[in-house]
Amino acid sequence: MHSRLLSFVIPVSMFAVLIACLGLGSAGAQPALQPTVDIAQVPAAAQPSPNFNADAATQAYMAMIPPAATARSDAYFEGGYWLLLWDFLYSSAICLVLLNLRWSARMRNLAERLSRFRPVQTFLYWLQYALLTFLLGFPLEFYESFVREHKYGLATQTFGPWMGDEGKSLMLSLVFGGLAAVLLFAIVRKLRKTWWLWGSLAVFILAVITVAAGPVFLQPIFNKVTRLNDPKVTEPILRMAHANGIPANDVYQIDASRQSTRISANVSGFANTMRITLNDNLLRRGSPEEIQAVMGHEMGHYVMNHIPKFLFFLGVVILVSFAYLHWGLRWALGRWGARWEIREANDPAVLPLAALMAGVLFFVLTPVMNTVTRTQEKEADMFGLNASRQPDGFAQAAIHLSEYRKMRPGPLEEWIFFDHPSGYDRIHSAMVWKGSNLELFDKMPSQPAAH
Ligand SMILES: [Zn+2]
Repeated sequence: MHSRLLSFVIPVSMFAVLIACLGLGSAGAQPALQPTVDIAQVPAAAQPSPNFNADAATQAYMAMIPPAATARSDAYFEGGYWLLLWDFLYSSAICLVLLNLRWSARMRNLAERLSRFRPVQTFLYWLQYALLTFLLGFPLEFYESFVREHKYGLATQTFGPWMGDEGKSLMLSLVFGGLAAVLLFAIVRKLRKTWWLWGSLAVFILAVITVAAGPVFLQPIFNKVTRLNDPKVTEPILRMAHANGIPANDVYQIDASRQSTRISANVSGFANTMRITLNDNLLRRGSPEEIQAVMGHEMGHYVMNHIPKFLFFLGVVILVSFAYLHWGLRWALGRWGARWEIREANDPAVLPLAALMAGVLFFVLTPVMNTVTRTQEKEADMFGLNASRQPDGFAQAAIHLSEYRKMRPGPLEEWIFFDHPSGYDRIHSAMVWKGSNLELFDKMPSQPAAH
């Protein structure tokens, strides 16, 4: 047992040294390319006038983004398309290594030697599996969420705090992933024919608990969430919330600048855990109009029940993936089970195979998942315009978001890769809205008196 543990510890510590070297050598942060004009100034073509034209107004806003900034965010966002592929291929390769080199079988054997209780065996298997996949997956994770984020000026963390967050995620995965694995394998063992039905129900319930508990219990592990006390900011937001039937009395702030320069906001949880959260980047960089436009969008998610609806959709996806696993695991184990030394679906060593199969399914489902999300985001955009009546604030937000999203993709590109409407589409919707509500804007040139 000890020599086995040792053979595990040595590569782990070598890996830690390698990671530390990579961290020291990583490139310094580059500042984001800011627009050189004040985006809170409404451009001439977007000013209310009898000749207001939504296309021209949209172009005027688009022209505020420096070409160099567009080139950079296009490169960042398009790089993300390739990362989808590399992530898929890389994690599939890890699963195949674990299966074909029988590392998975060995981890199970070790777990079985350490305990004779099935749930404990499953938990021990999970600890090894989660640690090993974390280590093997680390190079790509390091590039993707540290090196690359710094290269594009989006990250604010040095290596130490970033690694600290990675460590926290790993700990959460070890504990909660382990408990989930114990539960799921107990179901597979006890209900040999119907495990896929009950297993999908269990995963669905876990997903609901995570969504409900996440903002209150998980988010504070990584970031400080505080009540926002500035009435200049909270008062218009709460007024808009009450006007739209949202029972919120507080607005929260999260110190997202600890990790990133991105602006963002969200309405999270449901029922008692529902809360409106603004990130401090939005608070610092956004004009009051922009903040209200963004909050109107977030409130749309709440009023239109997007979280429960998405969970329902997710429930269907989970059920389909468990049916597919039920069929797929049996097929694959029938062919290669003996070679991988995996007995059947209730053997924890099957986990890399299940992860591989789920990875294939979700890779193929990427455009579907994105389209479901993007459709909700579009709905929230329209709700937000109606609720906040801040089309120019909305356009400003789209410009800020252009720091990490491509502004003007092709239609197919948008359908496959975008989980939000494109920036161009968002500004255009805002300008169409403005053009249809010109009477709300007091800067209208004087009209012939009607009275
Ligand atoms: Zn949204």
